[in-house]
Amino acid sequence: MLIGPNTVVNFSYTLTSEQGDIIDQSPEGESMSYLHGTSSIIPGLENELIGKTAGSEFDVTVKPEDGYGERIEEMVQKMPRSTFPADAEIELGMQFGAETAQGQVTVVVTEIEDDFVTVDGNHPLVGMTLRFVGKVEGVREATAEELDHGHAH
Ligand code: ZN
Repeated sequence: MLIGPNTVVNFSYTLTSEQGDIIDQSPEGESMSYLHGTSSIIPGLENELIGKTAGSEFDVTVKPEDGYGERIEEMVQKMPRSTFPADAEIELGMQFGAETAQGQVTVVVTEIEDDFVTVDGNHPLVGMTLRFVGKVEGVREATAEELDHGHAH
């Protein structure tokens, strides 16, 4: 079966930066699965996988515009310390969910001052060229329930 709309794909991968540093990889002996055509993985990788089949290997370099996009300065916000619970321990690098104009996003604390906390809602891989090397482990037809939910089970 070929990867295309309404298929569920399992793949293993290693993600490296342009410089060759390993950023992420699927755990040994495990693969990740997604429902193709739902933008649940970045477009550059999803497009590369179209038409591949179980056993296919891939090696694709994805530019930021087909990956996590470019950095958006508006996603960096300085929030009054008083918007956090008084007993909240706020640390650099801490992540939490925040409601924004773009909906719920994960933000990371990048600066702490006496009265203000700066948070950044940009994805950690924003602006980066990414290389994915991996293998398609399996392709199957999505179930009616998966299509209904819009994700792989
Ligand atoms: Zn579901």
